[in-house]
Amino acid sequence: MKILEGEYWKEIPIYKDVKEEEWKNWKWQIQNRLKTLEDAKKILNIIDEKSFKKVSEIYHFGTTPYYIFLADRENPDDPIVKQIIPDEKEIDEKYQEGALLDPFLEDKKSPVEGLTHRYPDRVLFRATNFCSVYCRHCMRKRMFLEDERARTKQEYDKMFEYIKNNKNIKEVLISGGDPLTLPNTKLEYIVKNIYEIDHIDIIRIGSRELVANPFRFFDEELLEIFDKYDKVWLVTHFNHPNEITSETKKAVKNILSTGTPVLNQTVILKGINDDKHTIENLMRDLLKVKIKPYYLFNCDPTKGVYHFKTSIEKGLEIMEHLRGRVSGLGNPTFAVDLIDGLGKVPLLPEYLLEKNENLYTFKNYEGKIVKIKV
Ligand code: SF4
Repeated sequence: MKILEGEYWKEIPIYKDVKEEEWKNWKWQIQNRLKTLEDAKKILNIIDEKSFKKVSEIYHFGTTPYYIFLADRENPDDPIVKQIIPDEKEIDEKYQEGALLDPFLEDKKSPVEGLTHRYPDRVLFRATNFCSVYCRHCMRKRMFLEDERARTKQEYDKMFEYIKNNKNIKEVLISGGDPLTLPNTKLEYIVKNIYEIDHIDIIRIGSRELVANPFRFFDEELLEIFDKYDKVWLVTHFNHPNEITSETKKAVKNILSTGTPVLNQTVILKGINDDKHTIENLMRDLLKVKIKPYYLFNCDPTKGVYHFKTSIEKGLEIMEHLRGRVSGLGNPTFAVDLIDGLGKVPLLPEYLLEKNENLYTFKNYEGKIVKIKV
């Protein structure tokens, strides 16, 4: 975990006059995000300008000042730089072969615009297509092709109506884009309307603001919303230990004080975190700030993202490494999301090697063979 002390942002020349009340204000972070090549060049001098231009004309670019501050800004292979700076591989067919714009048929399995209903008991509620950071590996990268906009209240109302009329739905995942970039009034409108539907038990908010803009959770109004509508869970998306800082820790403390659990989903990304020691450190750091590792995903076959894919064996190797080294609390479920919306498949390394009547042969985390009669 990176400890950020004093007016740390002032080490970047263009932020030398920024006051603490500005830097630590979530709205300032969003208003001052870097959106163009010219903006990025003020901070990074490692950009391949031609590629950046070519790619960002197709897929949006964007980062908060805080998130890019966390990068080693002299290193093109830095894990944060690679998650945020456009790369020509995103539009190179050689790397994107076999990938699809909407591999999980979210748009097709959509009974109402913005809502996806794939599993009987859950729906995905896409509140906006705007994000304060545009992650190069986003599973919903097709939305980078659209103009940025939050949905209207009329659209939300139709989505609420569908949920109300389908009593099998127990859980609503509010995602986007990033729903926590919405103003509090709009966010509360969504959360309140879903909360008041009796058959909804869980409102899961999927957001990267804890990673890219932890100051969102310094906002008392947001914390009041979390406190008041106590069906809310937060699922965040840290991919690398360098993303976890003392600001994250403060933000998580605020969230937990409202009774809202915080879980994390990580995606294994080639050249960013596809290494067992990096993932081990990430899991440890997540636990230190009291975030529970939830899923570890294999990279999705999404167009514009597929250059980050690794093998399934890589994921199994990482899981095998975690087991026995990191407490069970820090072991996420490794899963592959099947195309066409056919669901997630959890995967584990093989620990049961053989079964012979009631004699079971196991392999433990150190590779030792143990036979047990059950
Ligand atoms: S939806 Fe999440 S992963 Fe995708 S670009 Fe936005 S913040 Fe990143």
